[in-house]
Amino acid sequence: MNKGKKLYEGKAKILYETKDKNIIIQHFKDDATAFNNLKKASVEGKGVLNNRISEYILTNLSQCGIKTHFIKRLNMREQLIKKAEIFPIEFIVRNIATGSLTKRLGIPEGTVLEKPLLEYCFKKDELNDPLISKEHIFSFDWATEKEIQIIDRMTLRINDLLIGMFRGIGIKLVDFKIEYGKTWNKDRRESEIILADEISPDTCRLWDSKTEKKLDKDRFRKDLGNIIQGYQEVARRLGIMPEETNISEVNFGKTIPLKFKKK
Ligand code: 5GP
Repeated sequence: MNKGKKLYEGKAKILYETKDKNIIIQHFKDDATAFNNLKKASVEGKGVLNNRISEYILTNLSQCGIKTHFIKRLNMREQLIKKAEIFPIEFIVRNIATGSLTKRLGIPEGTVLEKPLLEYCFKKDELNDPLISKEHIFSFDWATEKEIQIIDRMTLRINDLLIGMFRGIGIKLVDFKIEYGKTWNKDRRESEIILADEISPDTCRLWDSKTEKKLDKDRFRKDLGNIIQGYQEVARRLGIMPEETNISEVNFGKTIPLKFKKK
């Protein structure tokens, strides 16, 4: 499918129009950002790995009955996805306490939560994606009670499926962020809620089950080095390394700082 006009460029992805107004092309960039763009670098090969890992995970979720935006992978960096009206909310699921939860509430790092904790954040870079309650969502009409009920259920089911998928390859799913969108039928009378986000080491915290070694974007956030090796390890264990023939086209592993300002 031919790439049309650029619709949107985000921190790690670019979206392009296609001839079909309901379908778009999602391009995965190598750019990595953290702390709301204060730290920026290009991690060569990251886009390729995220494209493959996300394809694998969304395909598996879809086989388990989860509706997603994923249609098919086009090439090393691009996939076709359904266009959706995105809810302005980030849905975060936590199984083990770390990151902003430990900072915000003083919960000891690594505390295993008795049951998954669901959090909602308002998608607004200028405000640092603040934590919100369901009441904020309903007050400002960001989603209806019925929609949140459906999304909460989908999110917990996705968490269960992902925990199992990663446990099978010796990885703990610590936490992750996902977004949802709404698609409409032809006369816009009926809508469907779909998972409309990538799922990759950029959006999940993944720890090796035995050593608790971080295999995700925290390697970048915390300057732990070997970022791409972490992502590659996840892909390798899932059984989906990039095609051998194309590996040489991608300069894997080199990290080029783009900007780094300390607060
Ligand atoms: P925390 O709130 O602890 O910083 O993040 C919780 C989880 O959500 C982590 O897995 C983190 O990667 C993910 N997450 C939260 N906000 C974002 C975001 O804006 N972009 C991405 N890619 N992941 C996020």
